Amino acid sequence: MQVTEIYKSIQGESTYAGLPCVFVRLTGCNLRCSWCDSEYTFSGGHRMTLEEVIEEVEQLSPTGGLIEVTGGEPMLQEREVVPLMQHLLNQGYTVLLETSGERPLERVPKGVAKIVDVKCPNSGEPGTFRMENLECLDSGDEVKFVISDRVDYEFARDFVSRHNLAPKVNAVLFSPAFGKDAGGARDTSHCLLDPRELAEWMLADNVAARLSLQIHKFILDPAIKGV
Ligand code: SF4
Repeated sequence: MQVTEIYKSIQGESTYAGLPCVFVRLTGCNLRCSWCDSEYTFSGGHRMTLEEVIEEVEQLSPTGGLIEVTGGEPMLQEREVVPLMQHLLNQGYTVLLETSGERPLERVPKGVAKIVDVKCPNSGEPGTFRMENLECLDSGDEVKFVISDRVDYEFARDFVSRHNLAPKVNAVLFSPAFGKDAGGARDTSHCLLDPRELAEWMLADNVAARLSLQIHKFILDPAIKGV
């Protein structure tokens, strides 16, 4: 498979935030989100066999733990990614798959926690979520909306309500978008939407979702890649 990087860091998002995690970041994405902070994955990388990826993961986390398969869009390499995730599950790892939700998810092995984006209107990629993927979600999965303004928020709020998402998954995440050129200060000044404002909207509407901040952007310089 084509791999941009494999590294160990602190998981910054989802209900697993704060835990040590090995990230397997695959190369390539078919979307172009306006606030994407992973553009360096769009090309390049290097070919690795399944065995080479597994060996590197096991070196970084020899006693089990959390592994996130991410990108780019990892499901573009479904033929190799599915066996990788199944092997890691068999070895006792907790496996997360971070995906845009645009690719089919039917073949993701049971037991993998899918962290699935639904792109909001101002992402630059609205309407790309594959609606059939709603049928693939289970109680271990999480659905994420990256929100940059009130229009995005209302889209996310109404999507969650229309599809009665909350009882079907482990968590629904509302995350304020970060400016993609953010760097320097480790604070909320880089958020395209003030988290406090988002929290107030969620409270006013009793939204069945969790406010989610990318904590790695508050631990490290937001400009640093590979975290
Ligand atoms: S789907 Fe993810 S990697 Fe692809 S452009 Fe959007 S944010 Fe970037």
